[in-house]
This record gives sequence, C-alpha cells and structure tokens, in this order.
Amino acid sequence: MRGALKLFTGFGIPVFLHWTFGLIFIYILWYAQSEGLTIMETVWMTGLFMALFLCVLLHEYGHALAARRYGVKTRDIVLMPIGGVARLERMPEKPIQEFIVAIAGPLVNVVIAIVLLVLIWLLADPIHLEMLQVAFTQGSENVVIEEIPQLLQFAINLAGTNIVLVLFNMIPAFPMDGGRVFRALLSMKTGRPKATKIAAWVGQAIAMLLVMYGLWNDRFMLAVLGLFVILGARSENDMVQTEDLMSRFSVKDIVRYQFTRLRANDWMLSAIELMKHSLERHFLVFDLNDNLMGVIEEDQIIQAMNKSDVTSEIGNHLHRAETVKLSDSLLRVNYLIRQQGVGIVAVTDAEGAIVGVIDDRGLAKVVRLTERRKP
Ligand SMILES: [Zn+2]
Repeated sequence: MRGALKLFTGFGIPVFLHWTFGLIFIYILWYAQSEGLTIMETVWMTGLFMALFLCVLLHEYGHALAARRYGVKTRDIVLMPIGGVARLERMPEKPIQEFIVAIAGPLVNVVIAIVLLVLIWLLADPIHLEMLQVAFTQGSENVVIEEIPQLLQFAINLAGTNIVLVLFNMIPAFPMDGGRVFRALLSMKTGRPKATKIAAWVGQAIAMLLVMYGLWNDRFMLAVLGLFVILGARSENDMVQTEDLMSRFSVKDIVRYQFTRLRANDWMLSAIELMKHSLERHFLVFDLNDNLMGVIEEDQIIQAMNKSDVTSEIGNHLHRAETVKLSDSLLRVNYLIRQQGVGIVAVTDAEGAIVGVIDDRGLAKVVRLTERRKP
C-alpha cells in the first residue's frame, strides 16, 4: 500500500498505518500547547488516542473475521486519522451475511464499552464514581476534575468514545456500517439492487441534513463528513447497479473473437509495434504448442519501449492469465477487470479451448449496449 507503514500481520491480515496518521501527533502537540497541558496530561492524552485506535483496529478485525466465516478474504486493514478501513475483497451478497459482517465491527465496540464500564463499576472508589456522576449530570465545572484519578478518567473517556463510535457507525448511510446494516435488512424484502438504491437515497438525505446542520452551526467537520457520506452513497450505488447489470449478461455477449496471439519467444518489439498500430493494448501469450503462457499488458509494453528493451523475449515480461468460460456471467469479468485491475481475460469454450478475449474496453461496451436499448 502506497503512503502507508506496515505495522504487523495479524490473523493473516496485514495492518497498515496511513501517513496522515502523523497528523494526530501534530494535533495533540498543538492542543497541549494551546491548552497549556502538563507533560503528564499530554502523555495521557496520547495514550487515549492510541487506545482509541486499538479499539478501531479491533472493530475492523470484527468485520474481517466475520467476513472470513463466509469465505471472504480481507486484503488489508488501513488505519487513518478519521478511522480504519478493512478492505474486504468483496461484500458477501446474502443479506444475512452482509448484515453480520457489517454489524460485527460496531458490536466489538459495544463489548469493549461494556467491559470497561463493568471494570470501572467494580474497581473504582465509590467517591470518585459519585464525582463522575455529578460531572455528567450537573456539568464538569461542579467537580474538581483533578481529584479524579487519571486512570479512571482515561477508562471513562475510552468507554465514552467507544459508545460514540458505535452511534456514529450506525448512522444508516453508506459508507458507514449502519448503511450496510440498513441495506441488508431492506435486501431481504426487495433484493439487493433496489435496496441499495433506497439505502443510498436515505443516506444522501441524512448527509444533506448533516451538511446543513454543520454549516449552520459552524461544525465544519460535520459538513465535511456529510459530503463524504454523499460520495460514499453514490459510489456504492454505482457499484451495485453495475454489478446488477453485469449479472444479466454473459461472457459470450461481448467476447471478442479476433485477437492477436503473441509467442513467448517473440521479441518485445512485436508487442510494441502491435500496440502502436492496432486497437489492441493487452495480449495473450502462447508457447509454440499453443498453450497459454500468460498475458502481457500495456504497462509492461510501454516500460519496455521506454527502456528501449525491444529485443528481450516477451516470455520474460508475462503476467498470470485469468480465464473465464463463454457461459460465465460477466460478474466475474467485472470483478477481475474493475476491482483487480486485470487488463485482459482469456475466454474458453466448453472444451477448454481459448476462443477469444475480453479487455477493459470490451467490458465498457456493456454499458453502451444497454444505453442504446433504452427508448
Ligand atoms: Zn465498521
């Protein structure tokens, strides 16, 4: 992952820290300076942030491990100042599974909050508990905060932020977990494409309210968050509608039968010439017995061109080839090309012989075909 520092790998999932995470330390220093915090108070504040991010990390593991139960892998977990993201390879499509994967994250924070509150209740001095109660009900100016032990303040703050995290995450709008929970529940009645449309609309309506409220009350962060939600809702809806469209077509609807077969022992020069003078950009590469060896894509060809590496054999530049059958639905092709960034996919007939290809341009044709169809 670019611009991110790898922390460790847990449960087989790499955890990254995004570079913007450094901004948190700058914020803490700035806050400590402007509020005149002592060194100890600054250390406690830093500790609270670190503990909070540990909770966010556990939240993301909640999603990732729930997804694993349904055979969905998690590429990585990235921690950013605004929260974490578990990048699942896909969302399980059965509504009940999506529901469980989406709710698993917030549930982790519910459990953390409950454990903390029980510990506080069992271990804290009753006098301090009473002071906390006064601070909560009558405002913090009615107690001498300094008399409450730092550890207790830390625990109550951490429990509180976990509860805020849950409430915030359960806002029923994409890309929040609440949006997915809401969509999953709707899907059980209406099917996924329609449920996504409704959930996206509701999410955007809520987001508009957030933006207006934020601007009206000078809560700039809320307004930014609202914009973020609007974008999230739109891209989620686009993705699901595209997937719905793809699932109604099969590979044989758009397969291209005319394609150039390159040989592994050809020079890169022949790939460069083909790319320059034809519409093809990615190629299947075969050995002398017509076995598929792999693919070579535009990026490698341009690289070779820039390095004037024209006489090296194509076989040295190969990528693994992905294959689909003529009868497959376009969903898998869409996943390979749009999500995995594969440039070209080989297409086989029922006997396993390679008869054609689909590339990124070919896939885009589906959208045009259906646009023409509309009155
Ligand atoms: Zn989450």
